Amino acid sequence: MPASATESDWFSGVISLRLALPVVMLAALWTWETLRPFFEFKKHRGRHALANLTIAVFNAIVIGVLFGTATVMTSNWVVEHRFGLLKFSDGFPTGRFVAGLILLDAWMYVWHWLNHRVPFLWCFHRMHHSDTNMDVTTAARFHIGEHFISATLRLMLIPVLGLSISQIIVYEVAVVAMTHFHHANVSIGRADRWLRLLLVTPNMHKVHHSRWQPETDSNYSVVLSIWDRLARTLRLRSNFDSIEFGLNNFADDHWQTVGGMLRTPFLEKTLHSKRVEGKHHSELESRMPSPSG
Ligand SMILES: [Zn+2]
Ligand SMILES: [Zn+2]
Repeated sequence: MPASATESDWFSGVISLRLALPVVMLAALWTWETLRPFFEFKKHRGRHALANLTIAVFNAIVIGVLFGTATVMTSNWVVEHRFGLLKFSDGFPTGRFVAGLILLDAWMYVWHWLNHRVPFLWCFHRMHHSDTNMDVTTAARFHIGEHFISATLRLMLIPVLGLSISQIIVYEVAVVAMTHFHHANVSIGRADRWLRLLLVTPNMHKVHHSRWQPETDSNYSVVLSIWDRLARTLRLRSNFDSIEFGLNNFADDHWQTVGGMLRTPFLEKTLHSKRVEGKHHSELESRMPSPSG
């Protein structure tokens, strides 16, 4: 925990930012989407947002209650006992801090990749991909089951890496800012090409929400885009405006309600096969443009 008054003020500021940022990002990007949407909203924008945000509030409360105290206690113990891989860089506190953020982002890449590769995890993660109208509210659309498994694994990661609570909260600030930005129904034009050399951009993440499975199974990075480049999972295309969002088996309106979303992991016929959801992908593939950088 921070020792001096200055560190304590800094820590309080980061916590305030973490709490306020989802609302600030939501309001700012909702306004941007209203003024200059990339895709015209098909229908029921308000109903779509309400369903996604209901899920978000429910998740925040449940995960906060279940994991909030445990996360703070675990990271405080780790710092107190100088535990974990990062303790080897004790002489370089700033380097250790930044290294922790980068390692957390690398883990998020691996976790996201696993969500697409392991059928059990995909059953939960597909709720995020079933959104047929991706916008800023999609950033908060995750099944509580995925959050629960993710939070459990991250709790185990804290002692492995030796993460402090301030590292975790600063990384969460970056995740909140970036996920709201790259899910928003906006375009930054040609700047996307330059920004995605470093960060995950709206165009890059739009490809990840494509119905075409080779595109769904690409662009797993969350904050830094380097992980997709290193793992050769980066996929781009020349015409981002022809992407179709969603999953074939979950395109009907009833899957977009709160109840439908919560039931999404339990659709029996696709419980162990994501390929069923991509059954039309081979048909789509023949009429898809060739990817371009
Ligand atoms: Zn995904
Ligand atoms: Zn997404």
